[in-house]
Amino acid sequence: MRRPLTVGNWKMNGSHDSINELLDGILAGLGAVTKAEVVVCVPYVYLQQVSEKLKGTVLAWGAQNVNDNDAGAYTGEISGSMLKDFNCRYVIVGHSERRTMYGESDGDVAARFKVAQAYGFVPILCVGELLEDHERGMTNEVVARQLDAIIGDAGINAIGDCVIAYEPVWAIGTGRVATPEQAQEVHAMIRSRLAHLNPDVATQVRILYGGSMKPDNAGDLIRMNDIDGGLIGGASLKAEDFLGICMAAN
Ligand code: PEP
Repeated sequence: MRRPLTVGNWKMNGSHDSINELLDGILAGLGAVTKAEVVVCVPYVYLQQVSEKLKGTVLAWGAQNVNDNDAGAYTGEISGSMLKDFNCRYVIVGHSERRTMYGESDGDVAARFKVAQAYGFVPILCVGELLEDHERGMTNEVVARQLDAIIGDAGINAIGDCVIAYEPVWAIGTGRVATPEQAQEVHAMIRSRLAHLNPDVATQVRILYGGSMKPDNAGDLIRMNDIDGGLIGGASLKAEDFLGICMAAN
């Protein structure tokens, strides 16, 4: 039985004050979320604040990326050992904004995935097709390629210790959400691809949907067999909306 999971991806949003308010709001409502696991992935500069505030609560935290080098001349980057200082549990890798805006290749994502695991974090591996891929019927090919890059480098067993997030890029921040059937088809494809290599890994890995998930569409998506929760951008910035999605996952 896979435990449902909702992950908030705050992206480059927030301030010291707004984060305090947001976390107070989420924590106030989390008592009702008894089954689902809840995580927030926050900007690096607020990890200290978030880790202090969430220590001892049921709300886990993580980062939005990690560099694959341990230390050195990598201006603007953050290493796994630095994240370790803030007791992160999760790290997002391969978000489409990293792939498309900052040129992270499948190989880069695989390297970051491996480093995240080496430091004991659970990578949240994002995969998903661009609008043009979607329109050309290339969704499965693109997602399979992104997944295979990780399996080829880290091995199939490594997938057992991660979370996969299927995020159609055309649905991220656009308000255009995939239908539950569209998302389920891709999730099932991912799971069956994994099952060919290791059925246990396929059964155990949680596969989240991401892309304009909101309280009013979350239930229909998460109800699908292979959708184990959500990776949420915009709606994770409002406590009420985020909690609505957590309740749907619950
Ligand atoms: C995301 O960026 O991972 C995401 C799913 O964003 P949104 O929920 O805003 O579409």
